[in-house]
Amino acid sequence: MSNVPLLDLKAQFAQIRAEVMPLIEEVCASQRFILGEHVLGLEAQLARYCGSAAGVGVSSGTDALLLALMALGIGVGDEILTTPFTFFATAGTIARVGARPVFCDIDPVSFNLSPTAVREFVERHCSVRNGQLINGVTAGRIAGLMPVHLYGQSADMDPLMDIAKQHNLKVIEDAAQAIGTEYKGVRVGSIGDIGCFSFFPSKNLGAFGDAGLCTTNDADLAESMRVLRVHGGKPKYFHSVIGGNFRIDELQAAVLRVKLKYLDGWTEARQRNAAFYDAAFAAAGLNERLERPQVAKNGRHIFNQYVVRVQKRDELKAFLGEHGVGTEIYYPVPLHLQKCFAYLNHAAGAFPESERAAAQTLALPIYPELQEEQLRTVVDSIAEFYRH
Ligand SMILES: *Cc1c(COP(=O)(O)O)cnc(C)c1O
Repeated sequence: MSNVPLLDLKAQFAQIRAEVMPLIEEVCASQRFILGEHVLGLEAQLARYCGSAAGVGVSSGTDALLLALMALGIGVGDEILTTPFTFFATAGTIARVGARPVFCDIDPVSFNLSPTAVREFVERHCSVRNGQLINGVTAGRIAGLMPVHLYGQSADMDPLMDIAKQHNLKVIEDAAQAIGTEYKGVRVGSIGDIGCFSFFPSKNLGAFGDAGLCTTNDADLAESMRVLRVHGGKPKYFHSVIGGNFRIDELQAAVLRVKLKYLDGWTEARQRNAAFYDAAFAAAGLNERLERPQVAKNGRHIFNQYVVRVQKRDELKAFLGEHGVGTEIYYPVPLHLQKCFAYLNHAAGAFPESERAAAQTLALPIYPELQEEQLRTVVDSIAEFYRH
């Protein structure tokens, strides 16, 4: 019986172990765990990597989103346009600052927020009052836009930025799955006001625990995020704003600095695996049963996930599981149908493309260390399932 896990972080650790362990030892020897030289170094390196002027290391991708919203002054009475087909934190953080997530449907090919759906929502349901976009349904002020670069591919940013400019909306990019992703040659996270990245272990650049980053080209926003990251204290113990503890650990920063050197190589391996699948699925005559991910022509897709749209998804997932192939559903319940968002009053059918994606998509193993034989096993197992 074959064994192809969805992700094998031990294989990656084996490659960097000799380099990373002495650094951890060094940080422990220094006992300097909070906002030390590795945090500063990492922030500078990642800002450069992401094409942004500044990077602010934080405790998680979720806290990156929360900090971005806080720094932009989003709160009660505000509404943020976003996608319902994403990880929970996207809308969860909007709600946690007291704002309202306002969902618009996705593009069925990219799975990302559809600019057409956003434009339609604005034209049909909103009005402009004192230069501000007002939601006619709730009377709330639409203050921002939070596109997600899902699976490692950029949302269609040009038309989204056009809408944002037209209506004075702040743009927070949820780039948690998209470090190094490009849109028309530009790194994501540098396009909107603030970019939010996650170093959760399963992301392309994963820490040894939780960590994240905010990027921005606005020096004032960077400063504001640095202050809010330490409870809003500036100077220490003097608070003119209320922040939180959103700091990244020095140990995580040290680990991430080692891993960053390998990131492009790992991303290329993910892209090679995706190309292997693309060719092999076509060769196996699976085009009728399985829709492969489509990469936008002028984009760089980093393949945090390789997600296919398939017939009989749940049966296929179970079959692959029995054959030792790990898969996952990202995400089985679109956010507008989550119990905690019942107060937003969305019925099933409200966002049909998001619901269809939740019912039909499956993530296959794509991690860099996969062997060709393992990729072959995945393809053969899927072909076998559809032969029956
Ligand atoms: C992973 C992820 C987050 C949250 O990041 P954490 O580091 O797990 O808090 C937010 N949004 C998306 C789209 C993600 O994939």
